[in-house]
Amino acid sequence: MPSDCLFCRIVNRDVPTRFLYEDDDYVVFRDINPAAPVHLLLVPKKHIRSMNDLEKEDSAIISGLFMIARDMAKEQGVNESGYKLLFNVEKGGGQVIFHVHLHLIGGWNR
Ligand code: AMP
Ligand code: ZN
Repeated sequence: MPSDCLFCRIVNRDVPTRFLYEDDDYVVFRDINPAAPVHLLLVPKKHIRSMNDLEKEDSAIISGLFMIARDMAKEQGVNESGYKLLFNVEKGGGQVIFHVHLHLIGGWNR
């Protein structure tokens, strides 16, 4: 678990962050710089650098992220109005934190 990784530090509670959800494998918290009224980050506790570094053994972690997304969207009340799920991959794809995470973005008035 790299000590220079911000999301590992958040997972380890070295950087105090309010979790909206936590279980053995994941944490969910609000993006500090929200792009929409609802902007959550769904983060596996396992340090995986980027989607390019996924191993076959990580498949369950990634599919589990989508189940949490489904539940959090409902919990945040955006499941019916709609939302986006986004992975930024590598620098050119907008990734700035190199610990895999899924953005859940929604809550616009549409
Ligand atoms: P990405 O560009 O996909 O790597 O997304 C990283 C996200 O983490 C950005 O949207 C940031 O606003 C967000 N972020 C950075 N630091 C924190 C923090 N301490 N707490 C919550 N979100 C953060
Ligand atoms: Zn990490």
